[in-house]
Amino acid sequence: MDLFEYQARDLFEKHGVPVLGGRVAETPEEALSAAQELGGGTVVVKAQVKTGGRGKAGGVKLAKSPEDARAKAEEILGLDIKGHTTEKVMIAEGADIAEEYYFSILLDRANRSYLAMCSKEGGVEIETLAKERPEALAKVDVNPLTGIDDAKAAEIASEAGFDGEDAKKVAEVFKQLWTVYAEEDATLVEVNPLVKTGDGKIIALDGKITLDDNASFRHEDHEELRDISAEDPLELKAKKLDLNYVKLDGEVGVIGNGAGLVMSTLDVVAYAGEEHGGVKPANFLDIGGGASAEVMANGLDVILGDDQVKSVFVNVFGGITACDAVANGIVKALEILGDTASKPLVVRLDGNNVDEGRKILDDANHPLVTLTDTMDGGADKAAELAASR
Ligand code: GDP
Ligand code: MN
Repeated sequence: MDLFEYQARDLFEKHGVPVLGGRVAETPEEALSAAQELGGGTVVVKAQVKTGGRGKAGGVKLAKSPEDARAKAEEILGLDIKGHTTEKVMIAEGADIAEEYYFSILLDRANRSYLAMCSKEGGVEIETLAKERPEALAKVDVNPLTGIDDAKAAEIASEAGFDGEDAKKVAEVFKQLWTVYAEEDATLVEVNPLVKTGDGKIIALDGKITLDDNASFRHEDHEELRDISAEDPLELKAKKLDLNYVKLDGEVGVIGNGAGLVMSTLDVVAYAGEEHGGVKPANFLDIGGGASAEVMANGLDVILGDDQVKSVFVNVFGGITACDAVANGIVKALEILGDTASKPLVVRLDGNNVDEGRKILDDANHPLVTLTDTMDGGADKAAELAASR
C-alpha cells in the first residue's frame, strides 16, 4: 500500500524524523484554517496524489498568507496530475531551502537485501538522475539484520559525498528513516527532497512510503491509512469476507480452489472466449482448500455482485475437501442466495468423490446450474452463455 505524502509525514514525525508542520485539507476553507493554525506565515500547498512530479504539474505552490493558501488550494483541488484527481491538499510550513538532497531505502528483491540510495543532487526526478548522472547517486547495500546503524549511516553519507558537520547531521536522519522502514514494515521509504535549511537543519520535505501489506497483521493502525475511496468496492467486500479475490475486466466469473487451478482456469476461459465474441474472465477467486457452503456462498455473492458478470464457471478439484462436500456447498450456497443468484453457473468437478458430487448436483437439478465433464468444456460453455446474454 502506497501512502499519501501527509500520511508519510505523520509516520516520519512519529519516529522522530525532522519534518515541518503539516495539515491535510479537503476544501479551500479548511486550507485557510490549516494555514492559520500553522502560524499564519508562509506555507506550501501541496496536492495529495499518489504520484510524483507534482511540482512540475502545478501541484505544489507557495502561499504567503492564509488567504493566499485558500486561493492556492482552490487552484490545486480538482487538478489532474498524471491521471490522479487531487482530492486533498497538504498545507505545510514553508521551508527556507539552502540545498536539496535525495535519500531512499527500498527492498532489493534481486539481491535479497535492502538498498539505500542517496544523492546530494535531490529535488529532481531520481530516474532522470540515475540515467544521466549515475555517479551522483550512491547505492549502498543494507543488511536486513543489522539495518542502518551508526557505521552504515556514515558509509551512506560518505558515499554520497557528504563530509564534516553535514555528514553527521544527515547520518542521524538516515538512522531515523531506517527506524520508519523497519518498524512500520515498509518496502520503500523515499525522501525527495531531504533539505538543508538556511540555518543548517536537515528536514524531510517530501516523503513517500510503501507499506508491506503482508505485514499488515501486525499493524492494526495501518488499516486507517487505507484509501477506501480508491479501492474497488467488490474487492473491499471480498477482503472483509477473507476471500482471495481480484476483479478483472471480463464477463465470465471464475471460482476455483487453489491459486494454480484458478490461474489456469482464467487462461482457459480467455482462450474459449475468443470463439465467443471475445468474452473474458471477470475475476480471480480462489476459495482455497476448505470450500464450505458458506465460503462458496460468499464467493458467489461477490461475483454475482459484479454487474459485468454474465455467467460463472466453478472449477473445483476435490482434494482434502472432496467433491461431494463442494457440491453440497454449491447447492446450499444457491439456497442462501435465493433470488440474488440469477446468472447461469457452469460447474466442473473432478478429483476426490467426483461421482458423489455430480450426483448431488444432478439430484438438485437447479435451473441455473450446468454440469460439465472437462475444464475446456466448462470454459467453453461458460463463455458461450456469457456471450449469449
Ligand atoms: P514532487 O514534485 O511531487 O516530488 O513534490 P515535492 O514535495 O518534492 O516538491 C517539489 C519541489 O517544491 C521541491 O523540490 C522544492 O523545491 C519545492 N518545495 C516544496 N516544499 C517547499 C517549501 O516548503 N519551501 C520552498 N521554498 N520550496 C518547497
Ligand atoms: Mn518530491
